[in-house]
Amino acid sequence: MATENYLLLGQKKRMIEGLREKGITDENVLGAFDKMERHLFLESLLWPRAYEDEALKLATDQTISKPSTVAFQSQLLEVSKGMKVLEIGTGSGFQAAILYAMGARVFTVERQITLFNRTRPLLSKLAPTVVTRYGDGFKGFPQFAPYDRVIVTCGAPEIPQALVEQLVVGGIMVIPVGEESQVMKRIVKISDSEYDEEDFGDFVFVPMLKERVRR
Ligand code: SAH
Repeated sequence: MATENYLLLGQKKRMIEGLREKGITDENVLGAFDKMERHLFLESLLWPRAYEDEALKLATDQTISKPSTVAFQSQLLEVSKGMKVLEIGTGSGFQAAILYAMGARVFTVERQITLFNRTRPLLSKLAPTVVTRYGDGFKGFPQFAPYDRVIVTCGAPEIPQALVEQLVVGGIMVIPVGEESQVMKRIVKISDSEYDEEDFGDFVFVPMLKERVRR
């Protein structure tokens, strides 16, 4: 915990208490929220709100998910140390950094070059083993497949086939599916051709869009 800013430190402790009250029980998730400082993933104007449970604006109209959503997805993912985790939608890098702090080997894909260029150096400082890629998440990240876990942090129109293919048998994918709003789904791949699916409530994410873009 490097921060000299005791106000933010106090706010972070209260945020973690709030996560417990909202049903986050995985100590590995809660520990990661203690280790990572969310304000460092935001522009300094937003630091006073960094530990509120709200989604905040990033560059180019994207958002950093609210802490309780990051914690909820991380908990559903059932990560143990050393697992290979693929994230679609790097954005600010905060979710990737939480997974890193949970001990995962993280691979993350972003389709917008602006966010990719901004987040990559930040992650190399704060979560140095995370592998970043500028690309279209609908295609996954085949170079390092298969993955033990896949997490999608944008609203997917359907479950992308390539992501199921890049998951190990027995692996878990957590993905919000839907157009206007999304249902959080947890998929467990039970064989090369089958998966089980379970729903975990309604959420609103920015959309998962096809093709990488130069903005
Ligand atoms: N995990 C991020 C959330 C950012 S919002 C965080 O912790 O800040 C979702 C991100 O998904 C946006 O940055 C958006 O550009 C990205 N995205 C949308 N469609 C995508 C796609 N097909 N491939 C990769 N990233 C995508």
